[in-house]
Amino acid sequence: MKFCSVCGHVVSLRVPPGDNRERFVCDNCNTIHYLNPRNVVGTVPVWDNKVLLCRRAIEPRYGYWTLPAGFMEIGETTAEAAARETLEEAGARVEVQTLFTLLNVPHVHQVHLFYLARLLDIDVQAGEESLEVRLFDEADIPWDEIAFPTVGQTLRFFFADRVAGGFGLHTGDIFRSLHDG
Ligand SMILES: [Zn+2]
Repeated sequence: MKFCSVCGHVVSLRVPPGDNRERFVCDNCNTIHYLNPRNVVGTVPVWDNKVLLCRRAIEPRYGYWTLPAGFMEIGETTAEAAARETLEEAGARVEVQTLFTLLNVPHVHQVHLFYLARLLDIDVQAGEESLEVRLFDEADIPWDEIAFPTVGQTLRFFFADRVAGGFGLHTGDIFRSLHDG
């Protein structure tokens, strides 16, 4: 951040009085601009034994496959965000079920949450941000073309839980890897 979003003056990075870490502080109006992690919320949309994936039509990871997910908007709940992103990216109507994964991705300042979801029908179509959408059996999942580590991790948990006969909540932390941008 370079400029104050309140008054347009230059900001500087310093520890405000009473705080214990550096913040962007406006040198003119003294507004403290806090930067906090953002939630990326999505679903694991299921139909029979298949999972719906979207092929990304946008960067980053153009052409790679992902579960439908995106940034949570102000004023909505995580479950509402998950359903909205699923509709926007895959044209898919779902019944959002239980929270399935909560994965911290500290190096990109994000927390990713995926809900299990039941597809209400298979009348799906690629949204603006997708090249195509498709239902995959486990054997056909394009593991080498998965867009993000949290999506791969969520899919691995999903198929492992299905074999085990029960779906639980999985939490974890994903740190920078060679595959990240
Ligand atoms: Zn200012």
